[in-house]
Amino acid sequence: MRSNIKLGKISGIEIGLHYSWFIVAALIAFSLGQHFRQVTPNWGTGQIWIAALVTAVLFFVTLLLHELAHSLVAQARGLKVTSITLFALGGVSQIQDDATDAKTEFWVAIAGPIASLIIGFGCLAIALGLGWQRSTEPHTAVTGILVWLGYINIVVAAFNMIPGFPLDGGRVLRSIVWAITKNADRSTRIAARIGQVVAFLFILDGIWQCFSGAGFSGLWIAFIGWFLMDAAKASYAEVGITAALRGVRVSEVMFHDCATVNPGMSLQEFVNTYLLRAGERCFAVEDQGHFVGLITPRDVSRIPRDRWDTTTVREAMRPLEELHIVTPDTPVLDALKLVASNDVNQLPVVANGALQGIISRSQLVQLLQVRSELRLPAPYPPPLPGHENMKAL
Ligand SMILES: [Zn+2]
Repeated sequence: MRSNIKLGKISGIEIGLHYSWFIVAALIAFSLGQHFRQVTPNWGTGQIWIAALVTAVLFFVTLLLHELAHSLVAQARGLKVTSITLFALGGVSQIQDDATDAKTEFWVAIAGPIASLIIGFGCLAIALGLGWQRSTEPHTAVTGILVWLGYINIVVAAFNMIPGFPLDGGRVLRSIVWAITKNADRSTRIAARIGQVVAFLFILDGIWQCFSGAGFSGLWIAFIGWFLMDAAKASYAEVGITAALRGVRVSEVMFHDCATVNPGMSLQEFVNTYLLRAGERCFAVEDQGHFVGLITPRDVSRIPRDRWDTTTVREAMRPLEELHIVTPDTPVLDALKLVASNDVNQLPVVANGALQGIISRSQLVQLLQVRSELRLPAPYPPPLPGHENMKAL
């Protein structure tokens, strides 16, 4: 999830919005407008819409506080947090490092729901202090906003505590299983399986409610169940991939035979002699034995065809300074993270200034496929406890 609009930084963490946020903010403001119109018939139209808009914005501020709670606890426990993105379904914290122990996982995961609960009860308490009475509709705009924010934050806390991985509740459950079994992989598998069971119950309940007349809200519950089922399955699969690649170094799986290209060559010549003939995908640009950049068919296609004669490979290539490079000793899992977080397809493997090979996304996918087709267990050292990629919801 990449943010489209950057809002600023808090404690070194980049805060951003994804476009999908606006759709949901508009929907929330609209349904809040309807809600306020019904429960407070004495309000004017202007008052209703201003209250609806302010509430929608404040709701996302409280979601941001939920994510900040995860992120700040993660930072305090020594993990690196890069960004928080708010999108249609809530927020995502990008926590770069893995939780190294069950305790860290527990506190990072539970911090968000605790923050939502404090905000929820805090809002209700202030509303009570301002004269709102429980089980009555609020009479002023301020108490109306506070009451809605109060209840919705308690719902957010409760929803996130559903023990379905990768929701916060699933992570809390996983950390507890982890503390008991002392095995990070097994705890993820167990938490993911429990998540699937919980998701299945949601789907059953949703279908049941749908047929007993609840209609749309039944469908909504079934949809949440389906979403949880998918997420739990993905987490389960990720453990398999992580376990299969743990301990594998880039040098063991990289592609060695890259063609070397002279930077002074024209693009036309490069296309004729390399691209069209060899059908290779990997071309290292070397200047007097030094690796200076990579050139791919994608880089060539960016240059208009009538300029291929006058453009050199050096002008079209991606220079070394702009590339994310790895060394032969880099763990494959770290390389995968680099590939995913920077959205690139290839990483050059460099040692002592010379290109040793290339590691690519498609090649890693193939490797995993072959391994699963042959039903090969990971031939590498057995998994060490405590290496999971944290992505708190
Ligand atoms: Zn959370």
